[in-house]
Amino acid sequence: MNTEKLKLQVQQRAMDAPNKVPHVLVFPFPGQSHINAMLKLAQLLCLGGLRVTFLNTQHNHDRILRFNDVHSSLSRWPGLSFRAISDGLPAEHPRSLDRFLDIFDSLKANTKQLFREMLISGRSESEPVTCLIADGVMTFTIDVAQEVGIPIIVCRTASACSFWSNLCIPRLIEEGEVPFQGDADMDGAIRLVPGMETFLRRRDLSNFLRAKEHTDRAIQLIMTEALNTCRASSLILNTFEDLEGPILSHIRSRISTIYTIGPIHALLKSKLANSLPSTSTTCTSSSSDLWKVDKTCMTWLDSQTIRKSVLFVSFGSYATVTRDEMFEFWHGLVNSGSPFLWVVRPDSVAGKGEGGHISAELEEATRERGFLVEWAPQEEILAHPAVGGFLTHSGWNSTLESIYAGVPMICWPFFGDQQINSRFVSEVWGVGLDMKDRSCDRETVEKMVRELMEGKREELHKSSDEMTEFARRCIREGGSSYCNLERLIEDIRSTSS
Ligand code: UDP
Repeated sequence: MNTEKLKLQVQQRAMDAPNKVPHVLVFPFPGQSHINAMLKLAQLLCLGGLRVTFLNTQHNHDRILRFNDVHSSLSRWPGLSFRAISDGLPAEHPRSLDRFLDIFDSLKANTKQLFREMLISGRSESEPVTCLIADGVMTFTIDVAQEVGIPIIVCRTASACSFWSNLCIPRLIEEGEVPFQGDADMDGAIRLVPGMETFLRRRDLSNFLRAKEHTDRAIQLIMTEALNTCRASSLILNTFEDLEGPILSHIRSRISTIYTIGPIHALLKSKLANSLPSTSTTCTSSSSDLWKVDKTCMTWLDSQTIRKSVLFVSFGSYATVTRDEMFEFWHGLVNSGSPFLWVVRPDSVAGKGEGGHISAELEEATRERGFLVEWAPQEEILAHPAVGGFLTHSGWNSTLESIYAGVPMICWPFFGDQQINSRFVSEVWGVGLDMKDRSCDRETVEKMVRELMEGKREELHKSSDEMTEFARRCIREGGSSYCNLERLIEDIRSTSS
């Protein structure tokens, strides 16, 4: 069917059913952090009275069904339903960080066509999709949306600062700043990203830019996806004005309509808490964990009686360490003397390394003041009064969750947006310490933990508390994120009818 005919059909359908509830299809990139943020967005839209279908890849959908009580949580969200689509990869593909380009390639080569067919066949359903919200790292969805004539809003789940620096890559390439390799002056100032001239260093740019040629696939991918995002007329960002306002004003010069509705997890929690009593008893946030959550750590945390004494350690859903690095971290944590709660995913130790064995001392010290889990209820942990610090990889969800909870961070970034997030955490917002590009030998880890939990404790907690207050203000009634969500829902309603 040709595109024009298709568009006419969609318009006709909308005219036939002017009073119908808008139906939004939310489609995240198949990664834990993207799913977490966009499912919360989906739930916020449901609370706003919209009908939402949440589309996962079949691979992740199966994992979510395995590790979460989806049926009971969906029964509490009548406006929400789940669907699945193939990511086009064979079942045995690891879908890990070292093979991430395969995921992007397959989504574009296989899923795009299936997605198009899904939207076209959905036209005959009783409640056809009237608006798409798709992940900003899958901009092939913009082409599909335009082709089938459904309005699209793009959602980026990473920080505004990383998105803006990605939008500046063409200029960085033109001026010869990108790509660069490990022998470059990593502390050299980068002055070509407007708004960051005074503090951005080479090492704070995405590690994907550390390449031989500017034609490198990863560079091309992050640059193209950023530039393509600007083809959508509206963008949702999981950030808040008081945090990234100056950077947002630069992005606004490229995309006219931006909805900053972060921290999304906190906005959802607050909306649920303030909803009508009848709703709050029935609606709780629906979870989307790709691993089994181990809640035993909450009992261990409850037994820690000193406020803000525990260091939480987690490197998110993708990052891996070598066995040697893991043992250096382990010794450093034990030697720091702080109690620690550490997430070690089953797939998080990778690569070569003979180093380290679990000595009797290490075991004893860990039993005394440590607790290890494979996957944890992170938001709950960060909100616990016993937690006073977070050793993190600086993923954007973790950063926002920590900021909202007022927990200062040690940042040990791995990839993507994490390099620039950690620079903002330490240098701009003053809510943490940056350990980027430093070896994680046990002495360094111990020193950093002592600095966070003892030496710089007061000043870091003071800045963190201030930032938490800004975040709370943004999600309160009348605050910027609160109002932007209302505007988003209104705009979806008006474009859907
Ligand atoms: N997370 C969790 N339990 C864990 C570790 C992580 O629930 O044990 C969640 C965390 O709360 C966050 C997400 O997983 O929402 C990780 O996202 P982030 O952007 O920080 O990092 P990524 O996984 O993309 O590297």
